[in-house]
Amino acid sequence: MSALAPDTVDRPLDLPTYSTELARWLDPGPDSLAAACEPEPDYERRVEVLRRFMGDLHAAGWSRVGWPVELGGAGGSIVHRAAMWEALARRGLPGMALFEHLEILAPVLAAHGPTDLVAELLPEYLSGRQLWAQGFSEPDAGSDLPSLRTTAVLDGDHYVVNGNKIWTSWARYATWCLLLVRTGDAASRHRGLTALVVDLRQPGVEVRAIEQANGTDELAEVHFEDVHVPADRVVGEVGGGWAVAMHILSHERGTFAWFRHCFQYQELLATAHRATGRDDAALGDALLDLAAATAAGYDGIAAHATGATLGPRAAFNKLLLCAAEQSVHDRALAGDPDIAVGLQVPDVAVRRQEYLFSRIVTVYGGSQQMQLDTIAKQILGLP
Ligand SMILES: Cc1cc2nc3c(=O)[nH]c(=O)nc-3n(C[C@H](O)[C@H](O)[C@H](O)COP(=O)(O)OP(=O)(O)OC[C@H]3O[C@@H](n4cnc5c(N)ncnc54)[C@H](O)[C@@H]3O)c2cc1C
Repeated sequence: MSALAPDTVDRPLDLPTYSTELARWLDPGPDSLAAACEPEPDYERRVEVLRRFMGDLHAAGWSRVGWPVELGGAGGSIVHRAAMWEALARRGLPGMALFEHLEILAPVLAAHGPTDLVAELLPEYLSGRQLWAQGFSEPDAGSDLPSLRTTAVLDGDHYVVNGNKIWTSWARYATWCLLLVRTGDAASRHRGLTALVVDLRQPGVEVRAIEQANGTDELAEVHFEDVHVPADRVVGEVGGGWAVAMHILSHERGTFAWFRHCFQYQELLATAHRATGRDDAALGDALLDLAAATAAGYDGIAAHATGATLGPRAAFNKLLLCAAEQSVHDRALAGDPDIAVGLQVPDVAVRRQEYLFSRIVTVYGGSQQMQLDTIAKQILGLP
C-alpha cells in the first residue's frame, strides 16, 4: 500500500493532463496493478488483489477524481472516471468486478444519499476497504420489481427490516447494501418503496452465496430478520425509492455500457491476436457491435456529466451492450476452442468464466424482454 495519505495528493482536473499523468503513473504502476492483471479464476483471490490495487489507486489520488470534494473526492465528473477505467483496461486490468457499483450505485448515493454518511462511506469504497451490493430483486420480484415484499417498519429512530433478496451481486464480499424495501402498504406498488443503506455485517443478516454455472460465487441470497437500520440512512425520500431505483438503472443500463466496453474491447483485441485461421469478417462484425455499444455508453456518460439521466433511453444502451458482449465472446470461442473444453490453465479458465457470463448479460439490470418492453411502451408509445 502506498505511504501517501489520500488527502495530501492533488491530481489535475484538466482531462488531457489527468489522462497523461495517470498514464505516466501506470507505466509501470505499482506491484498491485501487475497482480490485479494476472488471470485469476479463484474469485476470492481475485477480489483480494483488486482491493489492494484500488487501495493504491486511491492513496495516489487518481480514483478520487470524478467525485465531489465534499464527499471525499477531488472534483471532476464521470468523464474523468470513464477515462480512468479505460486507462486501466488498456494496461490489462481484466474488469471492474466488485467495483462495478462505483459506477452503478455510488453516483446515485452521491446525488441523493445523506451527505455525512456518503462522505464517510465513499472513500472506504474507493479505497477497497468496504464494498457494496445492490438489494433489489427478490424470489418473486425480478422483472416486476414494484411487487417486492421486503418490509421496513419505522420504530422510533430506526427501521426494522424483514424479507429476502436474491441474485445480490457481491453480497458475500460487501459491507454495505443499497436495499429497496417496502415502507408503504402492500397495495402501494412502486409508490411505497424506499431505498436504505444497510450494514450487511450486522445481526439478523444472513448471506448465502449462489455458485453460478461459470464457477464464481458473485451472486447471493440475503435474508433479513428484524434488522435495525437507523432512520437517517434513507437515500432520497421515504416513499421515493422508485426514483432512486430508476436513477440507478440509468447507470446500470445506460452509462455502464461505456465501462464494460473498455474491457470487452481488450478481449476482442486479444482474440484477434490469438486466433489461428481467424475470420476477419466476423471479428469486424463484433467490432461494429462494440462500437455501437460504446457510442451509446458515451452518450450516457455525456448526459450524466451534465446532471441528467437517460430515462427509458437507457434500455437501448443495455440491448446494444448485450449484443456486443455476446458477439465478442462468440468470436473468442470460435477462435479458441479450449474455452469450451474448460482447461484449468488460469488464462483459459478465466476466459471460459467470461464466456459463460456473456450468456447472462441479457438478464442483470432487467431482462432483454423488459428492455424491449420499455422501448415499446415508453419510447414508441405502443399499447
Ligand atoms: C449476473 C446477474 C447479476 C445480478 N445482480 C443483481 C444485483 O446485484 N441485485 C439485484 O437486485 N438483482 C440482481 N440480478 C437480478 C436481475 O435483476 C433479475 O434476474 C432480473 O431483473 C430478472 O428477474 P427474474 O430473475 O426474477 O426473472 P423473471 O422476472 O421471473 O423473468 C423470467 C423471464 O420472464 C420474462 N418476463 C417477465 N415479465 C415479463 C413481461 N412483463 N413481459 C415480457 N417478458 C417478461 C423475463 O424477460 C425473463 O425472460 C442479477 C442477475 C444476474 C443474471
